[in-house]
Amino acid sequence: MELLNIFIGGEWRQGCGELMHSYFPADGSVNASLHAAGLNDLEDAVARAERAWRDPAWRNSLPHQRARILSRVADIIEARLDELAERQTRDNGKPLAETRGLVMSAAGTARYYAAACELLEGELPTPRIVDVLTLSRYEPLGVVAAITPWNSPIASEMQKIAPAIAAGNAVILKPAEATPLMALVLAEIFEQAGLPAGLLSVLPGKGSVIGDALARHPKVRKISFTGGTTTGRHLAHVAAEKLIPTSLELGGKSPTIVLEDADIEQAARGICYGIFSSGGQACIAGARLFVHQSVYQPLMARLLELTQGLRLAHPLTPGTHIGPLISRSHRESVMNYVRLAQEEGGQVLCGGEIPADASLADGNWFQPTIITGLTNQARVCQEEIFGPVLVAMPFNDEQALLREANDSVFGLAAGIWTRDSGRALRLAEQLETGTVWINTYKVFSISTPFGGFKESGLGREKGIQGLKAWMQQKSIYLATGNGVNTWCD
Ligand code: ADP
Repeated sequence: MELLNIFIGGEWRQGCGELMHSYFPADGSVNASLHAAGLNDLEDAVARAERAWRDPAWRNSLPHQRARILSRVADIIEARLDELAERQTRDNGKPLAETRGLVMSAAGTARYYAAACELLEGELPTPRIVDVLTLSRYEPLGVVAAITPWNSPIASEMQKIAPAIAAGNAVILKPAEATPLMALVLAEIFEQAGLPAGLLSVLPGKGSVIGDALARHPKVRKISFTGGTTTGRHLAHVAAEKLIPTSLELGGKSPTIVLEDADIEQAARGICYGIFSSGGQACIAGARLFVHQSVYQPLMARLLELTQGLRLAHPLTPGTHIGPLISRSHRESVMNYVRLAQEEGGQVLCGGEIPADASLADGNWFQPTIITGLTNQARVCQEEIFGPVLVAMPFNDEQALLREANDSVFGLAAGIWTRDSGRALRLAEQLETGTVWINTYKVFSISTPFGGFKESGLGREKGIQGLKAWMQQKSIYLATGNGVNTWCD
């Protein structure tokens, strides 16, 4: 059996941890096997990272030199689009149309942070004392950790690596157990683009072992994490002990709201895409649907029609809407939530089962499911399912709607469907979420900050502050006269 090497600060070699596999969720076949990173690999990666970011050649590198590496990374990714999309599809089962989008998004992120890094300037604040000039510069944090989930590896990994490198840090990436392949390909691409050795390491392995050890390592000066709220809370504790910054992009249970004057066709299409794309395996999935009573019937009829028309098929087949879920155990968990919804009094309007189609039998498919007859207090409305399950609820009163929409421990995203922009903006102001989409859903721009309210996270990624989040600010005072160090009163 051929084993993949892992990437320790510029060296490709076998990990010293346990044997692990990447499985194709469409048929359970093994994509690749490798040895996870062990604690010795971690020590080595940190030592190399520490040397690499302090190396004067890197510390004194000019922004355009770091930008050039990121631009080359983007060029390579674009040139390898088809192959990378297919590899990510094999790693996590998302249909090709989606993984192509994620690959292009990763290239766009590298380009954006190349530009942002060139444009980022220090500040020359006007001092509030005389005979002194003050300046404020941005410096890297040093060795930083990125811990990522399995649902959109190439995009979420680039969202951390690109700004971290642009900012001058050395990054150690711990990809999800299920999806080590994209992270290793990214390492290969950064190496090919000329990133000096030591500035990037990829340590596949168990979160509770290598992820935890990475976060706790005394030399690691920031933890940027995307994943579940439980792990995020744990990492926030670790970071608090070490007094280091964390950025946490966590779970969601996003409400989508259809007002009485919405364009029903546009809303139904957006809602269908918002919950069922990626098989609902997205932190921003629009999982709770609130529809004004007056349009509930036509909206639900159209939504049902669209949902039943979704093509569940092999993720490498063009035109597939819904691929398999990541694993059997995850499908089991999604199915249990559907059973729970029924026990709580909900009715399954469509889906709710494993598809009968024999060609899908070896994969982890689950039918797109719509549940009605529940209130927002039901557990399936309060807990993140991370699967293709939508709960639809009618409403009459706007204030009651807002209370329900905001009645969640999560606060990641929300959607509003209406022709009245003023009303949409008023509602958007009152929704307790980090992102609000109006008459669209799951649309992203790299220059627009992203992150959660409440238990959906801490900090923001993307945009210029997504770069500054990987830096620390230093203020310098320069006396322009004789200095002001007198015992003055
Ligand atoms: P998900 O629900 O998406 O699987 P997790 O939070 O379990 O979310 O996983 C996201 C990432 O966090 C993965 O790379 C996983 O290996 C890692 N992880 C899980 N537990 C820990 C931990 N205790 N310390 C550090 N990383 C962890």
